[in-house]
Amino acid sequence: MEQFYTIQGEGFNTGRAAYFIRLGGCDVGCVWCDVKESWDADAHPRYAIADLVASASEHPGRNVVVTGGEPLMHDCLPLTKALQEAGFKTWIETSGAHPLSGNWDWICVSPKKFKAPLPEVLAHADELKIIVFNDSDFKWAEEHAALVPSTTRLYLQPEWSRAARMTPALIEYVKANPRWQVSLQTHKYLDIP
Ligand code: SF4
Repeated sequence: MEQFYTIQGEGFNTGRAAYFIRLGGCDVGCVWCDVKESWDADAHPRYAIADLVASASEHPGRNVVVTGGEPLMHDCLPLTKALQEAGFKTWIETSGAHPLSGNWDWICVSPKKFKAPLPEVLAHADELKIIVFNDSDFKWAEEHAALVPSTTRLYLQPEWSRAARMTPALIEYVKANPRWQVSLQTHKYLDIP
């Protein structure tokens, strides 16, 4: 759908330069989705993997974030293999709703209520990122934290349109439950892609 070089704004790798490859296609259907234009994969051009790797290679950073849409609707093995062979670290942002494919250096699973994550994807999560839209999401977050490895980093992130309402509650929750960390969409505060 689009590709651009920027700063990873959220989660464990916040603040690190990365080339983003946003794949078209998503069937999860989040009501608050801020990239609904990504949902229809056929609405976007197709690129050869070699061209994607060449575009990423034009920048000094050696991290690539594959996001969507829901990137696991595609077989990510050929793309991640080519990126790693070119010297990139491969990071994915996924809802976990489709089977895991690809070779990943960092897997961020951000489950959505609209289509449950698969246990096999949760089992490989380096990072669990829960988007907090209302108070009941803290309980939902704990239910998913019980499904990931004990080494998985846990993040609570306010949904952007609800940040003013939910951030104070989120801060109090993390103070009381320090296994969790706060994640903010810093790229939106910085007004960068
Ligand atoms: Fe949008 Fe991501 Fe939800 Fe898909 S999983 S609907 S791209 S927020």
